[in-house]
Amino acid sequence: MNLRDGNQPVHEAPDLLKRTKVVVWLLFALIGIHVLALSAFLPSIFVWWGIPLVLIGNFIFGSLGVNLGYHRMLTHRSVAFPRVLERLWLLCGVCCLEGSPLWWVCVHRIHHQYSDHPGDPHSPSGSFFWGHMQWIYIADPRQQSLETYAKYVPDLVNDPFLRWLHRRHTWAVVYAVHAILIAVIGLGIGLLVKENLAAAVLFGTQVFVWGVLVRTVYVWHVTWLVNSAAHRWGYRSYDTSDQSHNNFMVALLTNGEGWHNNHHAAPRACSQGHRWWEIDLTFAAVRMLHLVGLAWDLVPVQKKNHNLYRK
Ligand SMILES: [Zn+2]
Ligand SMILES: [Zn+2]
Repeated sequence: MNLRDGNQPVHEAPDLLKRTKVVVWLLFALIGIHVLALSAFLPSIFVWWGIPLVLIGNFIFGSLGVNLGYHRMLTHRSVAFPRVLERLWLLCGVCCLEGSPLWWVCVHRIHHQYSDHPGDPHSPSGSFFWGHMQWIYIADPRQQSLETYAKYVPDLVNDPFLRWLHRRHTWAVVYAVHAILIAVIGLGIGLLVKENLAAAVLFGTQVFVWGVLVRTVYVWHVTWLVNSAAHRWGYRSYDTSDQSHNNFMVALLTNGEGWHNNHHAAPRACSQGHRWWEIDLTFAAVRMLHLVGLAWDLVPVQKKNHNLYRK
C-alpha cells in the first residue's frame, strides 16, 4: 500500500504508540545530560557569553552536522561534497549525540515513508511528547533489525566510515572525545587569560557546560521540534498526506529545517525554503560552498515530481 497516495491529512495515532518497553540506559542518559546542563544556571557557572556560544555551536554542530550532514546530504542525497567535507559534517553530527548516522538516516527514511501514519517512529499526532522525545527511549524492535537497515539504508551500510561510527557505539565515544577536547581548550584559554589556576579551571568549566552540555540539549530540542511542533503547528503550502507544517519559529531555531511542509512536499530538494522569505541558513551555507566549488549536485525544488500541489 502506498501510504502517500491520499491528499487528506490523517489524524489517527500511529500504532507504534503501543510500544511500551523503556530503554532504561537511554532514559537515564537523557535525564542525566539535562540535569547536568542545568548547572549552567548556577551563579558561578552562568555567563552571558554562554548564549552566543550555544548559538554558534548550534550552527556548527546542529546545522552543518545534523541538518546538512545527516539529513540533506546522507538521508536525501540532495547535495554532494568532497569526501573530507562529507566526513567533517558527519563528525559534527556525531557531536550532537543524536545517534550514529546510519541509525539516524534509517529512522528518518522510515519517517518519510509513513509520516503521521501507522509505522511512523515519531509522529506527534497522538501525543506531542511522544513525537518530541518519548519515542527515543521507548524500544522500537525495527531499529534493532539488520533487515531494517538493509531495507532503508542499502546505499550506506557498506560504507566503512559509517559502519565504524555505528559499531560498538563509536559515535558516543567520538562525542565524549570532542567534549573532553572542548573542556581542554577552555582550560587552555583560561590559563592564558585568567589570573590564577582556580579562575582558569572555572573558565574551562563554563566553556564545557555551555559549549558542550547546554549546546547538546539545545540542539536536541530544536531537532526534536521539527518532529513535534513542525508536525502540528504552522502553515501548509502543500497538501501533503501527513501533518507537516511550515513553522517559522522552528525554522529560526534550526536554521532552516522548520519549513517542514516544504520538505515533506519535496524531500530531495536541497533548499527547504521555497518562498523568498522562507530563510534557510543551512542552504545559504551550501550556496556559499557551491560558489567556491566545494558543493555540487544540489537538487532543486521539483514540485512536479511529487503527488502534491502548491496552494
Ligand atoms: Zn517530518
Ligand atoms: Zn527528511
